[in-house]
Amino acid sequence: MNQLSQLPSVDRLLSESRLVELAVNHGRTLITAAVRAELAAARASAKDGGGVPETHALIAAIAERVEREAQPKLRRVFNLTGTVLHTNLGRAALPEEAVTAMVMAARSACALEYDVETGGRGDRDDVVNELLCGLTGAESATIVNNNAAAVFLLLNTLALRKEVIVSRGELIEIGGAFRIPDIMQRAGVKLIEVGTTNRTHAKDFTEALSSRTAMLLKVHASNYAVQGFTKAVDETELAAFAHGHGVPFVVDLGSGTLTNLEEWGLPHEPTPRQAIAAGADLVSFSGDKLLGGPQAGIIVGRRELIAKIKKNPLKRCLRVGKLTLAALEAVLRLYRNPQQLAQRLTTLRLLTRAADDIRAQAERLLPVLQEVLATWQVSVTCEALSSQIGSGSLPVDRLPSAGIVVRPRGKRSGILHALERRLRGLPVPVLGHIADAALRLDLRCMAEAEEHEFAVQLARLGSPE
Ligand SMILES: *Cc1c(COP(=O)(O)O)cnc(C)c1O
Repeated sequence: MNQLSQLPSVDRLLSESRLVELAVNHGRTLITAAVRAELAAARASAKDGGGVPETHALIAAIAERVEREAQPKLRRVFNLTGTVLHTNLGRAALPEEAVTAMVMAARSACALEYDVETGGRGDRDDVVNELLCGLTGAESATIVNNNAAAVFLLLNTLALRKEVIVSRGELIEIGGAFRIPDIMQRAGVKLIEVGTTNRTHAKDFTEALSSRTAMLLKVHASNYAVQGFTKAVDETELAAFAHGHGVPFVVDLGSGTLTNLEEWGLPHEPTPRQAIAAGADLVSFSGDKLLGGPQAGIIVGRRELIAKIKKNPLKRCLRVGKLTLAALEAVLRLYRNPQQLAQRLTTLRLLTRAADDIRAQAERLLPVLQEVLATWQVSVTCEALSSQIGSGSLPVDRLPSAGIVVRPRGKRSGILHALERRLRGLPVPVLGHIADAALRLDLRCMAEAEEHEFAVQLARLGSPE
């Protein structure tokens, strides 16, 4: 108890010059809360028989707590998971052009719904309408919050209280509770499933068509692959069926890249242009998957259908803000110059990065990691790895990559989790991937310009507990 009386009071601590300075920057409330928390911790430790900290140590602990709590929640991280489009890490990193456009739109008034030619009211979709039509061959386009919203809105607009026919092989679930049957139900649409999990024939669709049918929907199996004894009906054929019956044919494409990925040595992924050319009346896709832009849902297709969708009151609930449109416009403009695309569009640059280049980077960083992990009883090597595209895009394809692999020496598998925690605790958290008793740091997504910062902060990793 004696010891406890040696602890300084809250007011005494708050008058310390270091904390006064912090209060100017961060506000008195935060500092006072940190003082109380550290004093409580000191009292608890004294009661348990530990000593009472010196005042200067107490002040240092308070300052550290304040700095920790003043950090933004949304922090930059090093994505060394090997998944390029990682939904939990914000999917596509935006190109500089998009960042610049967003900063302009954030800082100033901008012509979001204003036609500077006529001085009249404009439509926010017009910011990207022409670009999207040019890139997809569609007549018109509209933008909403994400592709889930796009699918929901188009179903609700065109098929409310009516039937929508979908193949059983396409009743997908995308991570984060997007399930086609649930979305349909919430959109007020009756799902008519046809075919089987692996095979759906043209006659399955013809038999299901009725006077209650409002749409034929094709959902791209983006995050899985049905292989082996399979059959799906060709888009051109589905479009012809739908049109013969006077209903629209709609494709939910998911990723929706606007370029032919095979030209870049990547696996094939269907494009909105192909779906439109095959006769789709509407195509929906994400802005932040392979397209490499901001989170958005893009619907392109026939003019009168897009006009109907825009008139749905739910469009107002699902529309995007100026920052999204600024970034999307800048990204779409990059697609007009395919020669430069792989250098300028961050997502494509990362996906097309040569394994040799990544390997060279891993070899540069290897000695740094070996040194900081010298006391950890682990082996640290440079190895060939394989990256994933992510976000349900091209799920079975892997990209040859390289990185640093850490394995415990002996049977201490707990050490990897301890190390993983420490890496997450760095000023810019480093996120790797643990599997098969190894921690892998895939370097595909680390820019050369970030290497130095990455290496320097590793010095704070410390020794194992
Ligand atoms: C990813 C995906 C969605 C959901 O798109 P978000 O932009 O994540 O909302 C819907 N359908 C398919 C086929 C997808 O791949």
